[in-house]
Amino acid sequence: MAQLYDRVALIGLGLIASSMFYAMRRAGLAGEVVGYARSADTRAIAREIGLCDRVVESAAEAVKDADLVVLCVPVGAMESVAREIGPALKAGATVSDVGSVKAAVIAAVAPYLPAGVHFVPAHPLAGTEHSGPRSGFAELFDNRYTIIVPVAESDTAAVKRLEELWQGMGALTEVMDAEHHDRVLAVTSHTPHLIAYTMVGVADDLRRVTDSEVIKFSAAGFRDFTRIAASDPTMWRDVFLNNKEATLEILGRFTEELFALQRAIRRGDGDHLHAYFTRTRAIRRGIIEAGQDTDAPNFGRAPGRKE
Ligand code: NAP
Repeated sequence: MAQLYDRVALIGLGLIASSMFYAMRRAGLAGEVVGYARSADTRAIAREIGLCDRVVESAAEAVKDADLVVLCVPVGAMESVAREIGPALKAGATVSDVGSVKAAVIAAVAPYLPAGVHFVPAHPLAGTEHSGPRSGFAELFDNRYTIIVPVAESDTAAVKRLEELWQGMGALTEVMDAEHHDRVLAVTSHTPHLIAYTMVGVADDLRRVTDSEVIKFSAAGFRDFTRIAASDPTMWRDVFLNNKEATLEILGRFTEELFALQRAIRRGDGDHLHAYFTRTRAIRRGIIEAGQDTDAPNFGRAPGRKE
């Protein structure tokens, strides 16, 4: 694949930025990649492991002469980074981000971008429970969707090029508006994470009563909850603070359904439970048919593998 940008700046050097670096390099999509992270520790690790062609000491320095700047910091840090880089951006550059929430990030970043800079927000729907500069790998985005979320002023050519970048990194792409994105993600990602956090918290309380049984017998569904609930606390705090309305709406519906299931159990209404579980099973089948998960037993994990 041909090079799409001469110089790319990655601000924040965690899971997503490091995976982007390796995926861009795999396909030769960027000339030079310059990186910056907040802490000296992370910058030192990045230099040590060869993450980015150059690691610099400030965000403003990183974006100098960059054709594409990607903000890969937690949602709550987007505004301060945008404020810092605004005056240093090259005319004609594209600024993007990978934040898990879109409307709040657009509101936080757009005011700091000068005229003549193209803003094209995006969100890769790919991740793991690991974070930091050592956690990235080139295949993270392969066959996963990246949602491109243009703003009203986004330049068509800049949108198309960013879409090509994500496709070059292995992703499938789809264009969506910010409000729709935030509603869809509240259902597919944000609320499920909150439920996993809750379930693991409840089990932790139980463990005090039943000693180590929760850990010992966690092979079934609970283990997947613990994996999700191990996700980065800063990132997820920011997601809920910034996708408040959509998450609260979905949580409201969730609570109603939970009460209906609770009532069915109390009343011994097996028909209700069976009909409900039949409907949800069909949803799982749809995900597999769309190629977004595996049908192999135990999610394709090797027997005995802990994760
Ligand atoms: P991560 O591994 O925790 O890395 C975050 C990076 O941002 C770190 O390098 C951190 O620097 C840096 N950072 C934090 N605050 C900063 C600031 N004020 N200025 C400059 N750098 C700062 O996070 P991630 O998983 O890559 O997530 C990054 C973004 O991608 C988030 O917005 C998240 O919502 C989104 N996202 C995450 C996933 C996922 O599953 N993880 C999936 C899709 C999208 P230090 O190391 O120096 O603290």
